[in-house]
Amino acid sequence: MSEKPKVAWYWCASCGGCEESFVDLAERLLKVFETFDIVFCPVAMDFKREDVEKLPDGSIAVSLINGGIRMKEHEEMVKLLRKKSNIVIAYGACSAWGGVPGLANLYNLDEIVERKYLEIPTIENPKEILPTKKTIVNIPEAKIKAELELPEPLPTLLPIDKVIDVDYYIPGCPPTPDVFWNALQALLTGNLPPKGTVIGALQRSLCDECLLNETKPEKLLVKEFKRVEKAIPEPNKCLLAQGFLCMGPVTRGGCTALCIKANMPCTGCFGILDGVVDYGGKAISYFGSILDYSPMEEKEIKKAFESIPDWIGTIYRYSLPSAKLSHRAGLKRSKLMKEVFEI
Ligand code: SF4
Ligand code: SF4
Repeated sequence: MSEKPKVAWYWCASCGGCEESFVDLAERLLKVFETFDIVFCPVAMDFKREDVEKLPDGSIAVSLINGGIRMKEHEEMVKLLRKKSNIVIAYGACSAWGGVPGLANLYNLDEIVERKYLEIPTIENPKEILPTKKTIVNIPEAKIKAELELPEPLPTLLPIDKVIDVDYYIPGCPPTPDVFWNALQALLTGNLPPKGTVIGALQRSLCDECLLNETKPEKLLVKEFKRVEKAIPEPNKCLLAQGFLCMGPVTRGGCTALCIKANMPCTGCFGILDGVVDYGGKAISYFGSILDYSPMEEKEIKKAFESIPDWIGTIYRYSLPSAKLSHRAGLKRSKLMKEVFEI
């Protein structure tokens, strides 16, 4: 019997949703286990870093990596997996472009830690305890005395292709089971697109597969931008034509327009289309072009744009760390982190 191709599945700074999408393969998972030998998967199996280190270079057929690179440990692990793998796939928006956690690049590490441990309404931290590099854990009744060391954070979150060479990208937050399945079929049959491109999804915009596309006017103009938090979209009518910021025209298709079917505008998790340089730049120029400003005064145009309180979070929700614009805040030296981690 020939050996099954080896697969590794690693998570960097991940919310766990990408792992859920693996579980969502449901009965197709049996086929995955039958076809591949999973040699590393920290979320589900007790393999250690040393197990990967012992494998010969290039012996893993495919490494799927989700989550962005936030810690030194992530950086080391993706470099190790690159060395051991034939194909490396950035799985999900965080790994491909930085994702939602990448919005933290608007802030430096001190601001992130203060927000997380002192400010957010759901935190209870009366002694204002902040993380330290080393912590002594002493629980005499359980006979436990140990020194724990936190992994070192990086100044900003990085998509994995800023650290290693990536062969393919599977988009989504998380990727849908069908997109993942399509990508697995492409890998198994060798029917792969050019290196450095997306597998499993469409090469066309989401509008192309959206059932509401036929209600989208050819010349689309809107008088205002709306948010679903403030207004309820009419059913069966293009959301963008109603003024809701739907990212469908600038986003890759392949998810079967799942959010639109639930009457929710697309937020752009399938990311950039081939040939587009910057997702947010494309989105803002598109929205600027559909605002029907000809009869408007300057203050009305301003009001229309101000109705969206967080433009960066809207147009770069999944891709700030890979944006062409610089984001200096996260790159500033962080005082607290300098004291704790000497970085
Ligand atoms: S891409 Fe989405 S689902 Fe996957 S780890 Fe990032 S936030 Fe979670
Ligand atoms: S609802 Fe969104 S995805 Fe669907 S056609 Fe309109 S703009 Fe495109």
